[in-house]
Amino acid sequence: MPNRRAFLQTLSAVPLAGAVVPDIASAAAIAPESRDFFKELGVRPLINAAETYTLLTASLMLPEVMAAMNYASKMFVPLNDLHDAVGKRIAQLVGVEGAMVSSGAAAALTLGTAACVAGKNPEWIRRIPDLAGTGMKTDVIIQKSHRYGYDHAVRNCGVRLVEVETREALERAAGPQTAMMLFLNENEPVGAIKAEEFAALGKKLNIPTFIDAAADVPPTENLSRFTKLGFDLVTFSGGKGLRGPQSAGLLLGRKDLIEAARLNASPNSDTIGRGLKVNKEEMLGMMVAVEMFLKRDADAEWREWERRTTLLAATAAVNAKVRAELYVPPVANHVPHVRFSWATAGAKLLGPGVRQQLRAGDPSVEIVLVDSAPTAERQEIALGVWMMQAGEAEIVATRLRQVLGNI
Ligand SMILES: *Cc1c(COP(=O)(O)O)cnc(C)c1O
Repeated sequence: MPNRRAFLQTLSAVPLAGAVVPDIASAAAIAPESRDFFKELGVRPLINAAETYTLLTASLMLPEVMAAMNYASKMFVPLNDLHDAVGKRIAQLVGVEGAMVSSGAAAALTLGTAACVAGKNPEWIRRIPDLAGTGMKTDVIIQKSHRYGYDHAVRNCGVRLVEVETREALERAAGPQTAMMLFLNENEPVGAIKAEEFAALGKKLNIPTFIDAAADVPPTENLSRFTKLGFDLVTFSGGKGLRGPQSAGLLLGRKDLIEAARLNASPNSDTIGRGLKVNKEEMLGMMVAVEMFLKRDADAEWREWERRTTLLAATAAVNAKVRAELYVPPVANHVPHVRFSWATAGAKLLGPGVRQQLRAGDPSVEIVLVDSAPTAERQEIALGVWMMQAGEAEIVATRLRQVLGNI
């Protein structure tokens, strides 16, 4: 019969408890710096001379963000208490009524829509995305020119997207069945109804408005601009310009809608958002990323980006056929870029060929993913410099001089 004494003897016979049950101290002994994981796995790191593409792992977290995530990884806490507190802190920092951390901007689109459709009604929360016969509102109004790949995240809730092109058509389409109005900030220039008017229409019609501004910081003031314009909900990607965890994002806006979005989300099991889980490390990391973003020296950052684009533009001098131009995209990725162009006729390399040579070289360099048609009069490539690390602009300049020389 096992007894307490025998059990204790057995325990003392184990030389090191830590060797049997690894704890934090022993985990620290396996210093990750001693392993080159990417090399071990045969995965080649690259220089990001493009944008905050998810495909390229988007942005790099600051050491302060990693420290917060590491801190959180060592203790248990009640998840909802942490989310309440983090949401409150982010809302204060940004200057909005309510905030929550989502598992990315796409997840925030789903959760914000669920909040507008089901609110805090437990039965409705369970029924999403099967809206038929429940009494839930079924329509989301969007300008036709604002349809995009991420509206799938809205359609996940079972709603129907109703496309309109003018203010008059929008007013005609709105009714008791309308749950929400969706606006894609990046496409403001191509739609007839501009952001401010769209938000005002929502107020007039008493329909919540949601703006997707996922890739639209910097500038810093954009974080609070859209709620000030009158939008009820706004989302930003956490792992793009904010440099938070790639698998995190922000849903900001009206307090009652944020509370409803939380009820439609993980950790609540029977919800549309259960798969869009956020852990404590991401919550804390996202909060510190917002703190760091607001604290940073935006002018110095901008000057460094301009220095890099100027340095890269100078490489066009290696080939008289190539022209360089500096530019700043008007809305999303609103930071300094450089593009190179050359006549298609007589060129030894087209845009995709240049991209391929930069990618295949050592180190591998990824550039903006836009290709000119082979039939276009001129070929063009573009580079972003804001995701580069110190010293990388110089390396890219060397690679560009080699590759542009082959055109
Ligand atoms: C990147 C992006 C998203 C998705 O953001 P995630 O944080 O990766 O989910 C949604 N909408 C727009 C406009 C984006 O640019």
